[in-house]
Amino acid sequence: QIQRALRSLCIPLERLHIMKGHMMQDMCKGLSRQTHSQAKVRMLPTYICSTPNGTEKGNFLVVELCQNQVRTLLVTLYGDGNMSPQMMYKIFDMPEGIMQGEGEALFDFIAQCVSQFLAETISPDTSSSEERLPLGFVFPFSCRQTQLDKAELLSWSKGFSCSGVVGKDVVQMLQSAINKQEVGGNGAGGRWLSPWWGWKSSQFAPGQLSHVDVVALMNDTVGTMMTCSMEGRPCEVAMVADKGSNCCFMAEAYLVEMAEETSGRMCVNTEWGCFGDDGTLNDIFTPYDESVDEESSNPGEKRFEKLVGSLYLGEIVRHALIALTAEKALFTGTDIAVLKEKGVFTIQHVLDIINNEDGTTVVKRILEVLGLQPSERDCGRVQQICRAVVGRAATLHAVGLAAILSYMCQTRDMETLMVNVGVEGELYTGYSRFEEILQSVSRLLSPECMATLLPSRDGSGRGAAMVTAVALRLAAQRRVVNEVLGPLRLTHADLEKVQALMRQEMERGLGKHTNATASVRMLPTYVSHTPDGTERGDFLALDLGGTNFRVLVVRVAEEGITMASEIYVIPAAIMQGTGERLFDHIIDCIMDFQTKQNLMTQTLPLGFTFSFPCQQVGLDKALLLTWTKGFSASGCVGQDVVQLLREAAQRKQHSGLRVVALLNDTVGTMMSCGYDDPKCEIGLIVGTGTNACYMEEMRNVGTVEGDQGRMCINMEWGAFGDNGCLDHIFTHFDRVVDETTINPGKQRFEKLISGMYLGEIVRQILLVMTEKQLLFQGRPSPKLQTRNIFQTKFLSTIELSNGLALRQIRAILNELELDASFEDSVLLREVCQAVSLRAAQLCAAGLAAVVEKMRENRGLERLSISVGVDGTLYKLHPCFSHNLQKTLKELAPNCDVSFHLSEDGSGKGAALVAAVASRTAGAGQ
Ligand code: ADP
Ligand code: MG
Repeated sequence: QIQRALRSLCIPLERLHIMKGHMMQDMCKGLSRQTHSQAKVRMLPTYICSTPNGTEKGNFLVVELCQNQVRTLLVTLYGDGNMSPQMMYKIFDMPEGIMQGEGEALFDFIAQCVSQFLAETISPDTSSSEERLPLGFVFPFSCRQTQLDKAELLSWSKGFSCSGVVGKDVVQMLQSAINKQEVGGNGAGGRWLSPWWGWKSSQFAPGQLSHVDVVALMNDTVGTMMTCSMEGRPCEVAMVADKGSNCCFMAEAYLVEMAEETSGRMCVNTEWGCFGDDGTLNDIFTPYDESVDEESSNPGEKRFEKLVGSLYLGEIVRHALIALTAEKALFTGTDIAVLKEKGVFTIQHVLDIINNEDGTTVVKRILEVLGLQPSERDCGRVQQICRAVVGRAATLHAVGLAAILSYMCQTRDMETLMVNVGVEGELYTGYSRFEEILQSVSRLLSPECMATLLPSRDGSGRGAAMVTAVALRLAAQRRVVNEVLGPLRLTHADLEKVQALMRQEMERGLGKHTNATASVRMLPTYVSHTPDGTERGDFLALDLGGTNFRVLVVRVAEEGITMASEIYVIPAAIMQGTGERLFDHIIDCIMDFQTKQNLMTQTLPLGFTFSFPCQQVGLDKALLLTWTKGFSASGCVGQDVVQLLREAAQRKQHSGLRVVALLNDTVGTMMSCGYDDPKCEIGLIVGTGTNACYMEEMRNVGTVEGDQGRMCINMEWGAFGDNGCLDHIFTHFDRVVDETTINPGKQRFEKLISGMYLGEIVRQILLVMTEKQLLFQGRPSPKLQTRNIFQTKFLSTIELSNGLALRQIRAILNELELDASFEDSVLLREVCQAVSLRAAQLCAAGLAAVVEKMRENRGLERLSISVGVDGTLYKLHPCFSHNLQKTLKELAPNCDVSFHLSEDGSGKGAALVAAVASRTAGAGQ
C-alpha cells in the first residue's frame, strides 16, 4: 500500500510535459482579450513595464496590508546600482474587528500607520520640504488593475471582508484617507479613540502627509521580481512558493491584450493557483488531495495551489496517513484520533521531518509530540510520504516555471533564453531540496531555457519600493522623451495649416506673375489627357535619371501592356564628359536595343522619362535647368534635351527615331496607373525624394496660353517651404539635417518626408537622446556619429517589429556598435515611428491640398479620385501608406481617394504619354 501511495504521488515525466503544454495554453488564454474572462490562469496585467536599472534614487515609502498587520517601510536609494539601499520599517498590529468593519475605517487606519511611521522616522525638517514622497501600496488581493495606480478590488480573501470596498479603486481610497489626515491634522484624533480599537490617542502623533502620493499598487510576487533585480542584473521572473503559490514574469506588452500598452514589456501576474480548475489536473489528484479539497473553504477551486501551496501540504500528508492507517499500512493497533483534527499536521512538521536526512529520531519525536505512537517502521514511512508530497509540490512548481520560460523564449523569438528567476517563500527557504528539484525538472522540461534562481529577501517590502522607484524613473524619463519628440508631433490643426500653405503656394506657382517667387514651381508638362484604355501600339521608352539607364519597348494591346527592356551602363567618364558624347552614347544604346529586339526597320514613337529638373515648353521640348545625381555633361544646361537627342540621332544617321514626349517620373507614374484606372489623375513619388503631379484646369494655369481642358502639372513640391513658410514646423533636428546636405535651405519639404533624409533625422534624435541619458546609458558609439549611417530602410525594419523581431533591431544596433538594452530598442522604435508618422502626415497634408483643389475646380460636393504612387519608402515602409491614407481622410473628408502602386511608371508611363499624344493628335487632325 505504501508503494502504491508513493507511486500515486509521483508524476511521470511525459505527464509533466503534457501539463506544461496545458499551462502554456492557459497562459495564452488568459492573455487574449476574447478568452480572458473564462481563463483559469488569469494573467493579470500589472502595468509594471520595466525592471530597475540601478539609477533609481530618492526616498520611497511602502505600506503593505498583511494578515492582521500593516507594515510600513521607508527605503532610500542612492542611484548606485541599488547596492546599498537604506531601509527602516515598522509593523502595526491591526485592531480587532477592523478586517470585517467599514472599508473607510480600514483605509483611515492604514493612513494613520503611515502618518505615525513618518513622524517617527523622518525628522521634521526633511518632512516639511516640498519634495513629494512616493508611496507604493502592497495590496495582496485580487484586483482589476487598469493603471499602475488604479485598481478595483474584485474580492476580499484571507479573512478580510470590509464593506464598501469591492468594486472601488483602492488606490483612490488610500489616497483619500491620506489626504484626510492632512486636512484633519491632529483634529482627526477623535477617530483614534474608537472604543473597539481600544487605542490611546497618545499612541499616534500624526505627521504631515500632504506630500505623500500613492503612485503604485502591486501584488507581492512583483515585489519579489523587483528585489532580485536590485544588484544590477535584470530579473524577469519571480515565483512565490509559500502558503499559496504564484508567479509573475515580463511578457511582451503587445501580447497582454487586456492592457492598452503595446510596446515594450509588461509584468504579468499569472495567478496560476487556479490552474486545473477546469479539470485538466484531475487525473493527478490523489484521494488525499480530494479530501483536502473537500474540506477546504473553496472546494473545486485553486486546484493547482492545493497541490503546491504550503498551506495544504501538511493536510495532504495528514489525509495520506489517515488513509494508510485505515489500510493497516501504518500505526497499526495505535490510536490516531489526533490525526482527525484539521490542521494538526503543519508545514513546519512536514519540513522538519523531511529535512532530517539521518535517522528517524526527529521524526519519532515530532509524531510523539503530536500524540501518535509510531514504530520505527512508521517513522520511515511517514518520512517517505512527506518527501513524496513536498517533492511533488516542488516538481509542479518546476512545471509552471518551465511553461513560463518556454513561453518567454517563444514569444521573444529566441533560440535559447537566459533569465534570472527570483524565488521566495517558505517552501523555497524551508525545503532543502526545493531549489535542486526546481532547477533540474525545469531544465528537463525546457531544455532551451537556462534559469538562474536568485533568492529574494523581503520582496513585498523592498520590491514595492523598487516598483515605486522604477515608476517614477519611467515617468521622469517619459517627460524628457516627450520634450524631445514633442516638436515632431503635429496636431490636426498643424496639418491643416500646412495644407492651407500648400494650397497658397500652389496658387502662387500657377499664377503668371507669382510663379517666379513661389516655392512650389507648378511646372506645366504639356500632358493634357490621361489614358482612356483605348491606346494601342508599340512604343520605345527611355528612362534616364533613376538608378539605372534603361531602354524599353512597350506594347500596348487589347490584352494588356507587355514590355521588354535592357539596362545600360553609363560610364562616369561619359556622365561627366561632353553632352554630345552622352547623347551619342544614348543613341548607341537605343540602336543596340533595337537590333537585339529586331526593331531596326520600324520607326516607333518614343517617350523619354528624364528625371532631372526641366523647364518644359512643349510635350517634346524641355530645357534642362540643372544636372543632379552625378551627371555633369557639358553643353546641356539651358538646352532642349529632346533636341540634343535628335541631333545625336542625326550624327549617328539613325533615322528610325521619333521622340514624341519628354516627361517627369511623377507623370509616368500617374499615366501608368491611369491606364488601368481612368480616375487616376494624380501621381505621387515617395522614394529618395518626393514629388507629385495632378491634372489642373487650363484656365487656372496662368503660365501657359489657353483656357480649354486640363494639363498635368508637375508640382515639384519637394521645394515647398524653401521660402520660409514652413519654418514653424522645422525642428532642431531638421535644421541640423538640412545644414549638412549639399543644398542647404533647398527642398525643405522633401527633407521632412523622403527616404534620403528620414534615417538621418532619426540619427540626430538618437544623438540628442543619448546626450540626455535616455538611450544607450548615455554613451553614443563613434559609428552613430557618422553621417547617413542610419539608413531609412532601418525605419522599416524597426517599425515592423513587434516583440517577435526585436532581434532584428538588436542586429541593426549591433551593426552601429551600440550596446542596447531592451528598453533602448523600444524607445528607438518610438523615435522611428514619430519621424515616419510625421513624414506620412505631411505628405498627406500636401495631397489634401491637391485633392481639395481638384474638387473645387470641378465644383463637386464629393470627389472620387485615384493616385498612382511609386517610391520605395511608400512601398516598403510598414506604416507609411496607412498613415498617409488615414491622415488624408481626416484632412480632406469630402474626397474619396484610392491609391494604386505604379509598376514601372517610368517605362510604361513614357509609352503611354507617347500613346496618348498620338491618340489625341490623331483625334485633332
Ligand atoms: P528613386 O526615388 O531614386 O527612384 P526608390 O523609389 O527606389 O528610388 O527609393 C529609394 C529610397 O528608398 C532610398 O533612398 C532609401 O532611402 C529608401 N528605401 C530603401 N529601402 C527602403 C525600405 N526598406 N524602407 C523604406 N525606405 C527604403
Ligand atoms: Mg523612382
